[in-house]
Amino acid sequence: MDDATLIRALVTACCATIEEHAGELTKLDQAIGDGDHGLNMSRGFKAIAAETDALAAMTLGDALKKAGMTLVMKVGGASGPLYGSLLMDMGKSASTAPANEAEVAEMFRAGIDAVKKRGKSDVGAKTMLDVLVPVAETVSEGGDLEAVRARTDEALEATRDMLAIKGRAAFLGERSLGHIDPGARSSALLIHAVCNVLEAS
Ligand code: ADP
Ligand code: MG
Repeated sequence: MDDATLIRALVTACCATIEEHAGELTKLDQAIGDGDHGLNMSRGFKAIAAETDALAAMTLGDALKKAGMTLVMKVGGASGPLYGSLLMDMGKSASTAPANEAEVAEMFRAGIDAVKKRGKSDVGAKTMLDVLVPVAETVSEGGDLEAVRARTDEALEATRDMLAIKGRAAFLGERSLGHIDPGARSSALLIHAVCNVLEAS
């Protein structure tokens, strides 16, 4: 798959999964946040979808940077700047499509570092990082797509029993227990979408 085809496939798959699950993301955020995660993600990814042709004309790195900037600009909630930072720094780390797993791992690591910095956060706080970081570990260990999918689902489920110490859910204290984190769910959806594209490529 050349860069343009890959970018189109990634945009289509990511936007479709967010659209399909926007209601679920909203419900999760109603339980431990302010109920806008579905709307935030949907607004951001619709804006990315509207730029598909421009993105497909770029290198993968530039497309990631542009998509990240779009999320920062279009999404009001915490998730916009956080996912925006993820994509922008992934884009800075890789100019063209990564040639091997080590390059994918490096790109992912750069993006996650930016999320940690922007969110002043790390694993164990019941956020998107609790999916992104373990999955990045599996990628850097050379795990195949099946291993990545399994780790994603396991990491997502593990956020249920975590106490939120970052983001709005932290205001709930112990009442955040027993609920999956909305941002962890959107990260899991996006990772599954990327895996499906890579499997088909
Ligand atoms: P908001 O919290 O502003 O309403 P969203 O509802 O769109 O924004 O996104 C909430 C999600 O963002 C949370 O479920 C969590 O995964 C993630 N999040 C919030 N704050 C942080 C942070 N400081 N670091 C990492 N992720 C965070
Ligand atoms: Mg919210």
